[in-house]
Amino acid sequence: MSTFIGHYAPRVLLGVVGSLVLLTVAPIPASISAQVVFGALLVLMTLTLVLAVAIFSHNRRLCERCIRSVPLNASAVASRYKARFRIAHYFERKSFAAGYLIAVAASSFFGFHPAGKYPWAVVQASLGYLLLVYATHQRLQPWCPFCRGGGEHQEVPTSPTPVSSTL
Ligand SMILES: [Zn+2]
Ligand SMILES: [Zn+2]
Repeated sequence: MSTFIGHYAPRVLLGVVGSLVLLTVAPIPASISAQVVFGALLVLMTLTLVLAVAIFSHNRRLCERCIRSVPLNASAVASRYKARFRIAHYFERKSFAAGYLIAVAASSFFGFHPAGKYPWAVVQASLGYLLLVYATHQRLQPWCPFCRGGGEHQEVPTSPTPVSSTL
């Protein structure tokens, strides 16, 4: 069951990130109280944590759905996603990943400022893109030109830590 959730979690998480972006940029009507907005944020954060845990447990075992979802022309499909593979491998470097996380944490502070919420929304959207990067790399890893030695799976540090920084 947890593999099932984990398999679809990146897609659901993409929806969660989308809602976060909307909550950040959309003007909140005066009729909606701050508590409601805060409650919605809390629900989204909890959902993010649950999904992140599901993604990590999904990574640890072989998933039948993943195997079945590999396209027949996988190498042709993979060649279209070179940029995503490259980004996935940038994040294997600790300094790069740490730099990104610091940028995310820093821009989350701007989120409280009326003008700063737009850069913050862009950062949130970049988290969504990283989820796509992560999902593509995981699915098509055997065809990733940057994976050497094969078999050894490198995890891309995506959403869990950065998203929770908005708390
Ligand atoms: Zn799967
Ligand atoms: Zn790779």
